[in-house]
Amino acid sequence: MPADSGQLVRLDAPATAHESRKPLFGLDAESLAALLTELNEPAWRGGQLAEAMYRQWITEIDAISTLAMHLRRRLTEAGWEVGRPRIAQVFRSTDGTERYLVECQNRNSGPAGAAETVETVWMPDGDGGEAGDENEARSEESSKSWSRATICVSSQIGCAVNCQFCLTARLGLQRNLTAGEIAGQVVAVMARHAVEVGRDRLNLVFMGMGEPFLNYASFMAAVRLLVREVGLSPRRMTVSTSGIVPGIEQFAKEPPELRPKLAISLNAPNDAIRGEVMPINRKWPIQSILEAVRQIQLRPRERITFEYVLLAGVTDRPEHAQEVARLVRRANFPAKVNLIAWNPGPGIPYSMPAPEAIETFKAALAAEGVPVYLRQPRGRDIYAACGQLKRTVEGS
Ligand code: SAH
Ligand code: SF4
Repeated sequence: MPADSGQLVRLDAPATAHESRKPLFGLDAESLAALLTELNEPAWRGGQLAEAMYRQWITEIDAISTLAMHLRRRLTEAGWEVGRPRIAQVFRSTDGTERYLVECQNRNSGPAGAAETVETVWMPDGDGGEAGDENEARSEESSKSWSRATICVSSQIGCAVNCQFCLTARLGLQRNLTAGEIAGQVVAVMARHAVEVGRDRLNLVFMGMGEPFLNYASFMAAVRLLVREVGLSPRRMTVSTSGIVPGIEQFAKEPPELRPKLAISLNAPNDAIRGEVMPINRKWPIQSILEAVRQIQLRPRERITFEYVLLAGVTDRPEHAQEVARLVRRANFPAKVNLIAWNPGPGIPYSMPAPEAIETFKAALAAEGVPVYLRQPRGRDIYAACGQLKRTVEGS
C-alpha cells in the first residue's frame, strides 16, 4: 500500500508553472520503488530516494547526488518535487520552546499553490509528561544545549470535535493533513535542530491541532514513515485522542512494533460534566472508551495516559479528584494521569484553576495511589495554548 495513495498522480502529466507540483515526501519505500519502475528505472533507486529524503533530509531533487542527473531531470519534468513541509515562521519562547507555523501546499482546494499552515512545537528538555516509561541512560558527550526534546505534531488543519475549552475547535475542520504533511513537520523540525537519530532522546506527541483518530489512515501512514524510513521508535511517540472509539479499536489492532503509546483526553470526572465540556462524549461515553482501550495489548511497563485539563470550578474540585481516582482504578489497566492547567484563550468562557486547586487535586490523586504528573505550561509568552498561535498570528 502506498503511504498516501492520494498523492500518486499520473506520471505523464507534466506540471505547468501554475500547477502545484507532486510531492515525493510522504511516499514510502515501496511506492517510491513503484514510481521508479514506472519511469523504467530500477526499483532500488526508490531506496536512494527514500534515503535522501528521510535520512539525509535533502529538500531538492537537484541536490540528491546519489541519483543520476538524467533521473533527477526526469522526475522534475514529470512534475515531482521533494515537497517537504517548510517552517514558515518561528516563535521562540524565553523557556527555549519554539513554535512554528509549518507551511503545507494546499493541493485539494482553493487557488493552486496557496499555502496553508499548521502548528508544530519544539520543547527542548521537556517531555510533555510523556517520557518513555523505561529508564535509560542520558546521551553523553553532546555539545547540544538540550539532552532530550519533544516535538508536538498536528494531524489536521483545525478540528471538528468541538471541545468547549479548546481554541483549535473554533477553527472548525479545514482539512486533513496527508501522511507526508504529518511526518514532514517532524523531519523539518529535526533538521532545524540537527537531531541525531538513535542518539538523541527525541519524543513525539501527536497532540497539536486536530484529532488524529479522525484522520486515522494518514496518521498511521505517517507513523510508519517515521518508524521505518526516518528511524524513530514508536515507544517514544504518544498519540492523544478525545475518545474516538472506532479509532481506538483500529489502533488496538496495529502491530506493536508500529504502535505509539496512547493518551486519552479524559478532562472530566464523569459523563455528565464530560458531555458538557466535550460534546463528543454523548456519542462515545467514558465506559465505551475504556472498553476500547482494554483491547490494546500493552507492552511491558507501558501505561495509558489520561490527560485531564483543569477548568476552574468545572473540573478541578476535590470531589472530582476522588471520582477520577475511582475511574482510573476501575479502568483496570496500567494508567497515569497528566494534569494540565487550562490555557486561556479569547472568547472561551472558562477560568484558569487556582494554583492551590491544582496542588490539592494532584495530592488527592497521589493519596489514592494514582500516578499523577502536572504538565508544565511551555512557551506561554508565545501563545502556548492549543491552536492559539495560528489564530493570533493569522487573525483567523
Ligand atoms: N485532539 C486530540 C489531540 C490534540 S489536543 C485530543 O483532544 O486529545 C491535545 C491536548 O490538549 C488534549 O488533551 C486537550 O484536552 C488539551 N487542550 C486543548 N485545549 C487546551 C487548552 N486551552 N489548555 C490546556 N489544554 C488544552
Ligand atoms: Fe479537537 Fe483535541 Fe481540541 Fe477537542 S481538544 S477540539 S479533539 S484538538
